[in-house]
Amino acid sequence: MRILISGASIAGPVLAYWLAHYGFRPTVVERSPTPRKTGGHAVDLFRPAMDIVERMGVLSRIEAKKTGTERLTLLREGRHRRIEVDLRRLMYAVSDRHVEIMRDDLSEIFLDATRDTVEYVFDDSITALAEDADGVDVTFARGVPRRFDLVIGADGLHSNVRRLVFGDERRFTHWLGAYLAVMTLPNYLGLKDQLMLFGDVGRMAGVYSGQQMDDARAVFMFRTPRELGVHHRDVARQKEVVRAAFAGLGREIPRLLAELERTPAFYFDSITQLRMDTWSRGRVTLVGDAGYSPGPAVGGSTSLAVVGAYVLAGELAAAGGDPVRGFQAYEHELGDYVRRSRIFALNAARSLVPRGRFQLWALAQAARMINHVPPGMIRALARRNSKGVRLHDSIVLEDYEQRARTAATTTPRASTLDRSFT
Ligand SMILES: Cc1cc2nc3c(=O)[nH]c(=O)nc-3n(C[C@H](O)[C@H](O)[C@H](O)COP(=O)(O)OP(=O)(O)OC[C@H]3O[C@@H](n4cnc5c(N)ncnc54)[C@H](O)[C@@H]3O)c2cc1C
Repeated sequence: MRILISGASIAGPVLAYWLAHYGFRPTVVERSPTPRKTGGHAVDLFRPAMDIVERMGVLSRIEAKKTGTERLTLLREGRHRRIEVDLRRLMYAVSDRHVEIMRDDLSEIFLDATRDTVEYVFDDSITALAEDADGVDVTFARGVPRRFDLVIGADGLHSNVRRLVFGDERRFTHWLGAYLAVMTLPNYLGLKDQLMLFGDVGRMAGVYSGQQMDDARAVFMFRTPRELGVHHRDVARQKEVVRAAFAGLGREIPRLLAELERTPAFYFDSITQLRMDTWSRGRVTLVGDAGYSPGPAVGGSTSLAVVGAYVLAGELAAAGGDPVRGFQAYEHELGDYVRRSRIFALNAARSLVPRGRFQLWALAQAARMINHVPPGMIRALARRNSKGVRLHDSIVLEDYEQRARTAATTTPRASTLDRSFT
């Protein structure tokens, strides 16, 4: 059974890995001419995603590439005292198993793990999908048209497949009141294991590097009273908006703003949440940010993308490749995680960029508390936290291989593992 996946970042290669594992024949088409290696940002893998990458046999490679960020230094505008936070204590409270890694490193590891079993087509994109009872005819911007049994969009928050099948993204996106920019810059502060945050009301900037990195990343998050009409390709205007939002701030901010002129890689977007009641239609479904991004940098969406890919492949295999049963089971299995991630992201977006003086003060108090309260107590408080701090660790993964083995012993011919979907 031939399955086309659009997007070769995180969800795409993880899905392709598991589909190939169950005997399907995945092809991944990626718009970028090569795997991305410049820019990018740090992402998080929490316990369920860590369990999945362990099952994929890539855990040691991922751990070897972790950023190793262990300290956070919070500096508030107009205040001299800096607040130092041991991030390991914070992470201990949030998750039993966690790694922070640069997205492009993670993507490269997934691509390497699938090179021999998956067909990759770079520098191309789907332009049209025509579905009939038996399959989908796919037209590409560059390659010749091809036919597939199923098509899956793993092409991110601004998904092309979603647009082709479900229509304009504005029907599903909800702005969370803030904007996000990331740029690459020289590691002129000599950061190794440290994230420096510069906070003020309505704006927060951070700089970090990683133990594997030669350069650094600066992140800018800021609130605006209403949505800005900045075109996604108008980089000059986007930089202007960032400069205006952080104008007048001291410490490292003037230098960071000056780096905007020289950066080799710049990203800008609104912090937007995707809300779709269903993300499957006919022979097409969506995975990762394309289907259910809770919002970039606020909802742990990389873990959600990895788990989503694992569940989709598992449910499709369990349904014998039937998209009606497989996609329905996928949405049912993942629905609760998606809904809770949205709520988590809404809360995180509110507190990460303080709305007022009191919120900035509360953020500083919370940061101080992490250093002074024993780790066991922080974890106990996290467990009682109604805003779902331990959201990811509460997810219980279905063991699809075990399910297939059980099915094989009771009804041998129904085994998903024994079947080759060719
Ligand atoms: C600035 C920023 C900071 C973030 N910080 C965090 C964090 O701290 N922790 C965390 O867990 N997550 C974070 N995220 C979110 C995280 O990056 C995503 O959740 C994760 O990458 C989702 O993976 P994905 O594969 O679904 O989508 P993406 O990583 O967005 O990948 C989509 C892929 O599809 C490709 N594509 C796009 N259009 C087409 C097309 N027409 N045809 C073919 N291919 C196409 C793209 O080139 C890309 O390779 C952050 C995101 C951003 C933007």
